[in-house]
Amino acid sequence: MTLKVHNTMTRRKEEFVPREEGKVYMYVCGPTVYNYIHVGNGRAYLVFDVIRRYLRYKGYEVFCVQNFTDVDDKIINKAKEEGKSPEEIARFYERAFLEDMAALRVIPPSVTPRATETIPEIIEMIRTLVEKGHAYVVDGDVYFRVTSFPEYGKLSGRSLEEMRAGERVEVDERKEHPMDFALWKASKPGEPSWDSPWGPGRPGWHIECSAMSLKYLGMGFDIHGGGQDLIFPHHENEIAQSEAYTGQKPFVRYWIHNGFVNIREEKMSKSLGNIVLVREVLQRYPADVMRLLVLQTHYRSPIDFGEEALEEASRAYERLENCLFALGEYLERHQGAVSPMRTQREVSLSDSFFEFERRFEEAMDDDFNTARALAVIFELVKEMNTYLQEQEAFPTPAGPILVEQGRDLILRLCRVLGLFDTPSGGETCEVDEEVKGAEAGPRIEALVDLLVEVRSRARARKDYEMADFIRERLKDLGIRLDDLREGTRWKFVGSGPGKGTSN
Ligand code: AMP
Ligand code: ZN
Repeated sequence: MTLKVHNTMTRRKEEFVPREEGKVYMYVCGPTVYNYIHVGNGRAYLVFDVIRRYLRYKGYEVFCVQNFTDVDDKIINKAKEEGKSPEEIARFYERAFLEDMAALRVIPPSVTPRATETIPEIIEMIRTLVEKGHAYVVDGDVYFRVTSFPEYGKLSGRSLEEMRAGERVEVDERKEHPMDFALWKASKPGEPSWDSPWGPGRPGWHIECSAMSLKYLGMGFDIHGGGQDLIFPHHENEIAQSEAYTGQKPFVRYWIHNGFVNIREEKMSKSLGNIVLVREVLQRYPADVMRLLVLQTHYRSPIDFGEEALEEASRAYERLENCLFALGEYLERHQGAVSPMRTQREVSLSDSFFEFERRFEEAMDDDFNTARALAVIFELVKEMNTYLQEQEAFPTPAGPILVEQGRDLILRLCRVLGLFDTPSGGETCEVDEEVKGAEAGPRIEALVDLLVEVRSRARARKDYEMADFIRERLKDLGIRLDDLREGTRWKFVGSGPGKGTSN
């Protein structure tokens, strides 16, 4: 089946054909590291994580670059406020970002360049842009000359004439055109600065992403992503700089932008003061609740965030969890007692598994429609719950085979979306113990993981007395264990604070 992707550039869904067969090169705009990320930012990184996971599921090898914007006015201001150096601020929030990504089980990018480590490439780009007449120097600042790039506005769909010096652009007398934007900013004393042909200064935000993406991905790479607020001016400017610099086009084959997380119809943003941090949500809910909350809406549609949305996602999570748990429990009770003889009902259930998988793929192939893909998973969950009830009432010889197939399919499809991905199972970020222990919840979960591991080791030594003892004592504490083929799963019984799987 062919994958269709909505391209912001053409404003329609297009068949996805990468630059190189079997490979996808993508760039996702990374965070400006001056604060903890909020749920809106979290949505962006989760969306591109799932896109990446699905491309891998389709058999592509995906090379993903995601930068850190670690030099910026906001970082400098925060450093002043806190009496720290901009570098201290940047490193602190980079680390916090990595913790949040690990907690959300976002697959780490292949490369994570920092703007401050790409300065020679940035200077080289700006120098060429000046030489070619696409940029000009004013008092140590360098500006991109938008009138030199006739296609300026092609991504956001506006022409230069339509653009005015709106609220977001301060009119600067030194600029030739109000839409000209800074490539290089002369630094004030005490600010981070690098030597350049135009004097000491630092790069503008837009040129950083052009330089980092071109450095690692080259012209004409496949996917460039970010939230819809980046379409203009950030991505429009990236296109102008990159295409003007190389004299080639396109800079990017497919532009993908996620919709906003809103709170009471307003975009969640630090400047509006309506943010909820990812880590605040993760103190109250498992990471998969946050993931479900994001994936239950198509990535281009807005999400209304609030208690209700969280509760709804939490209920969806419980439904999935309970089904998987019940199926696992059933399998534990029915080990060995299997026969391939199937009833008519079981033959059609077994056939429907292929159909569920096909419909899941069809949904994801339609511009990564995770909302529809999840609906397919929930239909399968419903089907398996019914089958389980039937089995409890009227067991059949092939019951355990069908239950195992159904459970494996649910898990497999969930994992394409990053759900029920084990912390140790994928390429999740490494987070050191000090970080893991920063919150009480994760610390308790880590302790349960440890006990489960001790029990597994006891079982491997055939010390069943110890293994049973641990299981019973954990049960007394309201923690149920479930031995599955891929490891032991555990959960707090009732609406406990968390759950996990230990291998
Ligand atoms: P920033 O650090 O502000 O550049 O944001 C990081 C990522 O989060 C970018 O891709 C933004 O477009 C995205 N983003 C910021 N706010 C929201 C929001 N309220 N909803 C969805 N995405 C957002
Ligand atoms: Zn960017």
